[in-house]
Amino acid sequence: MNKNRRSFVKKIGLALVVSPVASVLAKNNTVRSNNVNKPVVISTWNHGLDANAAAWEILKNNGSAVDAVEAGVRVPESDPNNTSVGLGGFPDRDGNVTLDACIMDQHQNCGSVAFLQGIQNPISVARLVMDKTPHVMLVGAGAKSFALKNGFKHENLLTDKAKKAWQEWVKKSKYQPIINVENHDTIGMLALDQNGNLSGACTTSGAAFKMNGRVGDSPIIGAGLYVDNEVGAATATGLGELVMKTVGSHLVVELMRQGLSPNEACKKAVERIAEKLDDYKKYQVGFLALNKKGECGSYCIQKGFNYAWKDEKNEKLVDAEYWVK
Ligand code: ASP
Repeated sequence: MNKNRRSFVKKIGLALVVSPVASVLAKNNTVRSNNVNKPVVISTWNHGLDANAAAWEILKNNGSAVDAVEAGVRVPESDPNNTSVGLGGFPDRDGNVTLDACIMDQHQNCGSVAFLQGIQNPISVARLVMDKTPHVMLVGAGAKSFALKNGFKHENLLTDKAKKAWQEWVKKSKYQPIINVENHDTIGMLALDQNGNLSGACTTSGAAFKMNGRVGDSPIIGAGLYVDNEVGAATATGLGELVMKTVGSHLVVELMRQGLSPNEACKKAVERIAEKLDDYKKYQVGFLALNKKGECGSYCIQKGFNYAWKDEKNEKLVDAEYWVK
């Protein structure tokens, strides 16, 4: 062992003895604290504040991360004024509100629904797919009949506000996703509970005025959401096609596995989009990540993406760093 290495090892050894919060030499040779910040919940956009508050009620009472994320994202799903999730979501170009959602827990279990119509809380249908079926994903009429058989009620999800916006859109019928236009798109939520377990949920009405039948990244495990309880969790918002082409959330988790911080991992995933997809500058994508130690981070293509963060000390909105300067 050379001299430098010897004195370095000595210092680290000393730190482990004298410090009540032990430090470890991580794989990428950075010294990191062993302190775990838990419980913690983070979620995309402004609507994450209210959603986090609902999740926190469960987390603070020693509830599980998976219960917390389900309860959290149900809040914007049930809000008729939120035009990008659940009830009140903008319809497709034919006037149909079609919903996508998925959920993933600490055991690698996952459930997902896509192209689901007439059910206000698709995340709870996804949860039931996870808990009660041998499958991961149900879509369209099959997902609907599964929901109805399990006690969910059919309702009209097209509010007057969303209908008016669609009727306006139909006049020109020009499909052009607009960056950050409402600042409250898909909700992706990630939580670490008091037992140190991670889970995530993601739910959306998808891109406004999409083609009938279009499904984006949000219900796709690995694209809109991914959780690996050994490493961390990630979720995405923005134009789903870009996220699907790069399997974004899975990429973020794998980058954290290699030793990157949540922030660095989200940045690398945005870099991947910029490297591979020519027209990325026209669109927004934001990634959000949480690691096993309760550290969170985010990164997006364009200025304007933010996320809500709640733990014992914080309850705030954080602006994400961005790629296009
Ligand atoms: N990612 C969603 C989708 O493409 C939409 C969004 O987050 O705004 O369906």
